Amino acid sequence: MKLVFATNNLNKLKEVQVLMPSHIQLLSLSDINCTEDIPETSDTIEGNAIQKAQYIKEKYGYECFADDTGLEVEAINGDPGVYSARYAGPEKDADNNMNKLLQELKGQVNRDAQFKTVIALELNNELKTFTGICKGTITQDKQGDGGFGYDPIFLPKGYTKTFAELSLAEKNRIGHRGKAVQQLIKFLNN
Ligand code: IMP
Repeated sequence: MKLVFATNNLNKLKEVQVLMPSHIQLLSLSDINCTEDIPETSDTIEGNAIQKAQYIKEKYGYECFADDTGLEVEAINGDPGVYSARYAGPEKDADNNMNKLLQELKGQVNRDAQFKTVIALELNNELKTFTGICKGTITQDKQGDGGFGYDPIFLPKGYTKTFAELSLAEKNRIGHRGKAVQQLIKFLNN
């Protein structure tokens, strides 16, 4: 079965591709010649995932799933949340986003945070969502150079290494996207 993963993020594609069963052929947005910016105008993570999946289904006609992720930090009321990508400005720069968050949390004792991923699947004219959460804390400084986005400052609960210091396999096993993808795969296998 051919299934589009509505993303241009090669890191995400790599993370998800290795988890997919062999009977599912994953297509990226470039594989279907989609080069436009898909609208993400909802004020919730779930709303954005649904909006992206429905857009691809309606405009390009493919069965498809889309994900949206946010980093929710307890001490600042769940920010940056749905606005994680543009936290420090429209250029979506990961370093600037991390610097802003570290600055925001300066002197803050409560550094609890969680990553939340929602995957929306458009299949057989039905919409289904899957949610994955990974709890942890925000470090004082950036640690590690693997991964992407906020990975260097996110310490998953029970670990002494940030996401940027863990292997891809380990991040997938305990991470938000991995958990949501596992539910998606279970559903696709049934
Ligand atoms: P989106 O899901 O691509 O909209 O991601 C929103 C923001 O969260 C972007 O700044 C991403 O870099 C960041 N992000 C998404 N997934 C991860 C992750 O697994 N680790 C670290 N940052 C992430």
